[in-house]
Amino acid sequence: MDRAKKILKDVFGYDTFRPLQSEIIQNVLLKKDTLVIMPTGGGKSICYQIPAVVFEGLTIVVSPLIALMQDQVEQLHELGIKAVLLNSSLSAREYRLNYEEVRNKKTKLLYLAPESLFKDEIQQLLAEVELDCITIDEAHCISEWGHDFRPEYRQLGLFRKKYPQAVCIALTATATPRVQEDIQRNLNLVKATKFLASFNRENLFIRVVPKTDAFQQTLDFLNEHTDEPGIIYCFSKKQVDLLSDKLASLGFSVKPYHAGLNAGQRSENQELFLKDKIQIIIATIAFGMGINKSNIRFVIHYDLPKNLESYYQEIGRAGRDGLKSECLLLFSYGDISKINYFVQQKYSDVEKTVAKLHLESMVRFAEASICRRIPLIRYFGEEYQEEYCGMCDNCLSEKKELADVTVAAQKLLSCIKRTGEIFGANYLIDVLLGAETDRIFSFGHQNLSVYGIGKEFTRIEWLKLSRQLLADHIIVKGLQFGSLKLTKKAYEVLLKNAKVHADIKEKEAKPKKPKTDEENYDTVLFELLRKKRKDLAEEANVPPYVIFSDKTLIQMSANFPRSTDRLLKVQGVGQFKAEKYGNTFIEVIDNYCRENEIEETALQPAPSLAAGSRQKKPRHVEIGEAFNKGTSISRLMENYKVKEITILDHLLKYFLEGNLLRQEGIEEFTILPRAMRNNIFSLFATEGTERLAPVFEKLNGEISYDDLRLLRLLYLIEKKS
Ligand code: ADP
Ligand code: ZN
Repeated sequence: MDRAKKILKDVFGYDTFRPLQSEIIQNVLLKKDTLVIMPTGGGKSICYQIPAVVFEGLTIVVSPLIALMQDQVEQLHELGIKAVLLNSSLSAREYRLNYEEVRNKKTKLLYLAPESLFKDEIQQLLAEVELDCITIDEAHCISEWGHDFRPEYRQLGLFRKKYPQAVCIALTATATPRVQEDIQRNLNLVKATKFLASFNRENLFIRVVPKTDAFQQTLDFLNEHTDEPGIIYCFSKKQVDLLSDKLASLGFSVKPYHAGLNAGQRSENQELFLKDKIQIIIATIAFGMGINKSNIRFVIHYDLPKNLESYYQEIGRAGRDGLKSECLLLFSYGDISKINYFVQQKYSDVEKTVAKLHLESMVRFAEASICRRIPLIRYFGEEYQEEYCGMCDNCLSEKKELADVTVAAQKLLSCIKRTGEIFGANYLIDVLLGAETDRIFSFGHQNLSVYGIGKEFTRIEWLKLSRQLLADHIIVKGLQFGSLKLTKKAYEVLLKNAKVHADIKEKEAKPKKPKTDEENYDTVLFELLRKKRKDLAEEANVPPYVIFSDKTLIQMSANFPRSTDRLLKVQGVGQFKAEKYGNTFIEVIDNYCRENEIEETALQPAPSLAAGSRQKKPRHVEIGEAFNKGTSISRLMENYKVKEITILDHLLKYFLEGNLLRQEGIEEFTILPRAMRNNIFSLFATEGTERLAPVFEKLNGEISYDDLRLLRLLYLIEKKS
């Protein structure tokens, strides 16, 4: 085991084993058959890769997908471990070369597809070498009760029997008790030691919402997760194509993936995603098995999955690096009948029964009002011990009582009505708060009865209320100018006192717990390192995460290691990688630190206050950067608890310092018609932009200073580009 520990550190660059890893490795090294049930991202690979390095002889890894094997082999090469694969994807020459490598005992691991095992040439090869270990990955493929049955897996039992001197380790992420029994029986692993890791993936935030407008809901979600890699799963190929076209036309970096595309296209799209060249993949369930990309930050289920096992597998692709990741399921009852119809068409009678049971558990999960982890984890034969996980929608909503806000809603609704249903939320709130702005005076709205009747709430609380009213369809937003208008439901609130419930109170600022490395790192350096990683990956033609995971880069950006010794202390940096890539990354860090006068920090304990203060950027830079990353102006107003004008002034300052600003985020905030805008732009051209008063006067005060500020910024951006 000392050897194993040393390999963990030197080769893989990790300090400690994850739960069960060391027990499993020990068991395999003692040549005792082993069944491992561990969730995706739990760290199964190391459980057979470390023994494979220790063993004198060969370790075979049987795996159902070619993509999976290639990925694994590439990762092993990057760690300096000899591994090859033999399958139909290779050219005759490559096949020959790999074959000879194995025959000459130059490789530790051999990856094989199940259908190759009994081929003559493979049998011959295995007769010539000493076989120490048979690894069966994705072992649930052997069971008809699993969600991914593969008939070729059935011959594995026979194969295992043929090599009794080798130890057998079977691994899977998905195993209900029934599937576990199946694996054991079929592989003759009845006496094997079973290791069942917890199925709780703590870093996944699980959310199920009623599907009302799937496209809009997805769009909202994506806008909150700009620049993050993610997967969207759809039920049908048609849906995948439709959605990816729509999102692509809106400028999202997406590609489709489904069985209807030819193999070349499929693997190209997959590669683009793995190599961080596109952000989002939209797929049917055919996508993802064997995807080791560790920085997937979200998984959206656009449609209801057929069963909890697939759902669990699919969300499990997010957050393998252990960082927080979001899982959103859009749930509608219509999807149930779609799935039922599909099952009726395609399946045999036995399969129909299995499918029906599976679907029922899925629906129960989606309908649950208790912590999501309870039904999910119980499905895998484990009891979730807590009642509250704090990382699912139900846990969070239980905690906040929705208040009766009918009176406040009535105030806002009358304000909308009294001002003629032509103003956006911010103006309306100004009126409610009794703000003394030119714009209000120019309309004479200070004389309305609703003027200043809303001082019991803050601006942010009013904004929250307006969003809730929009969500409840009590008001709607005019598409062109963003003006708020009443619906039929609004009159029920106004005239019949229909109740409105919402959570609009601003949260009291909680004392912040000290930030960990993961949250407290230099984002600019992180981007530089990511860029470097991408270049290297391109050169080596491997996915970026094969070189270093995001988590590893984040640690570098928190600790600024500037020597190989220091670098080796970072999680995920082993000897081989340190030698191969160390200097390249150190150079980036070193340059960055010099330019910004940053000192290397001690690795553990985590960066202290110094790290925090060093990173502190001037407010306008912080705001400018956040804005460019996709945060909207209204979100910024909320985050910083300031008015629109303050944000605009920060953005202007940021812009005038020579930084670029994204135009569309400002554009969507203006409500003035095009023609008016052009008119104002020509005034800026003649009057200049330093002072707004001349333009204001030329327009007879019809356009407020707030609007002029916004337009000035837009004008300057357009002029520059
Ligand atoms: P699985 O096959 O179970 O889905 P992997 O073997 O791909 O999971 O491991 C998931 C991630 O966790 C990988 O990036 C891997 O390098 C990392 N990992 C595995 N074991 C450890 C460990 N002991 N310490 C830190 N990271 C680990
Ligand atoms: Zn929960």
